[in-house]
Amino acid sequence: MIKLYNTLSGKLEEFKPVEDKKVKMYVCGPTVYNYIHIGNARPAIFFDTVRRYLEYSGYEVLYVQNFTDIDDKMISRANEEGVAVKDIAEKYIKAYFEDTAKVNLKEEGMLRPKATENIGEMIKLVKELEKKGYAYEVDGDVYFDIEKYRDQYGELSKQKTDDLVSGARIEVNDKKRSPLDFTLWKKAKEDEPYWGSPWSQGRPGWHLECSAMSHKYLGDTFDIHGGGQDLIFPHHENEIAQSKCAYNGEFSRYWMHNGYINIKGEKMSKSKGNFFLLREVLEKYEGRVVRFFMLSSHYRKPIDFSEAELEQAKKGVERIETTLMRAMEKLAEPAGDMENKEAVVSLDNSLENTIAKFESGMNDDFNTAIGIGAIFEFVKELNKYLDSNIPCEAGKSVLQSSVDIISRLIKDVLGVEVKLEKKVDNNLTEKLVELLLDLRQQARKDKNWGLSDQIRDGLDELGIQIKDGKDKSTWTIKS
Ligand SMILES: [Zn+2]
Repeated sequence: MIKLYNTLSGKLEEFKPVEDKKVKMYVCGPTVYNYIHIGNARPAIFFDTVRRYLEYSGYEVLYVQNFTDIDDKMISRANEEGVAVKDIAEKYIKAYFEDTAKVNLKEEGMLRPKATENIGEMIKLVKELEKKGYAYEVDGDVYFDIEKYRDQYGELSKQKTDDLVSGARIEVNDKKRSPLDFTLWKKAKEDEPYWGSPWSQGRPGWHLECSAMSHKYLGDTFDIHGGGQDLIFPHHENEIAQSKCAYNGEFSRYWMHNGYINIKGEKMSKSKGNFFLLREVLEKYEGRVVRFFMLSSHYRKPIDFSEAELEQAKKGVERIETTLMRAMEKLAEPAGDMENKEAVVSLDNSLENTIAKFESGMNDDFNTAIGIGAIFEFVKELNKYLDSNIPCEAGKSVLQSSVDIISRLIKDVLGVEVKLEKKVDNNLTEKLVELLLDLRQQARKDKNWGLSDQIRDGLDELGIQIKDGKDKSTWTIKS
């Protein structure tokens, strides 16, 4: 049984999807006006892991994540670069896929709709809200009327509408009836991209797209809505208001939010300038290390980002990998005689315990830190076993299960790539002979005939014949 912390109820709840073995989930995606930073990478990696664990647990998962490819930031970036908004979107969506492929996001079966491809759906949603009296138009702009939803507004962020109104920043906008009212449709200024609508030639407000797209792909009620903590208010609060007022379902039943990333104890933020782009980090560290690092803490906790932490993660991945490779090597060797039976039984028990601990950690609000801890404990046991045993047939069978199961947990569920076999270079012989020929060439140049002959004779003994040409020597394998 999976339990998860639902931001909506503020409690750990048993997870029960609407349909028996099917999970529908939606996670807010990036605005594609720049390369993604590590703060965007955390939800991408974490919710990908949620999907993987749900699949491991026997669910079929329909996972939707959007691209915001039209909004104020997109427009100002396009102006800065002197290109069209759609060129900016194209460039940074391509970059997004380049970066996230390296942290092994599972794209297969995933839907990634773009806002601009769903403008029709959004207009339909605004019309519905207008018809039901939740929206009003002023000079071509359309706003959501919070007053009509005041009793429920704030249920996700646990705030009262009155407190929000009095705490709201006074904006220079006399069009809105209340400072909390938010934009559903925005009339385009000159030179801004626009779409036709009943209200004006304009574009949708940012919150609108997630309500419209989650409805289009997942229906009135779906299971999990995820995103970073910073999206709880106002973005998710506004999504709830729109969807519940326009559609007939519960909207999302479970809300999951990941914590912030800290740098030197301070919250990473773009506005403060203390942030790292994912691609900068990937220049120095492999994607699997970044992924392992992100999963080494529980997702709701803030995570400290530093080189020291990444180095630690790198060592961790390598420790698991080296141990699995050692086991693979033993498996390739002939089986030993009857070994100490206790050692085999103990390794087998330890494997069972590891699976149980991993699953109970993941079932408890997707605690990847506990899952990883369980794998590390087993790696220790496995090393102990490999140090002092030549596995007999029974030992080999447990060893094989160990490799199969641990690699499934680390690779398939946590999505962290580990190699199981040493890479064998098929061209190794060729490369070694070429290297020796280069050395021999140098020896000849230096008139070191003794060494030159030694290399030729040595190769001859190994069945490799050298033929000296004018500038270059060639070689053949003697038949
Ligand atoms: Zn969203």
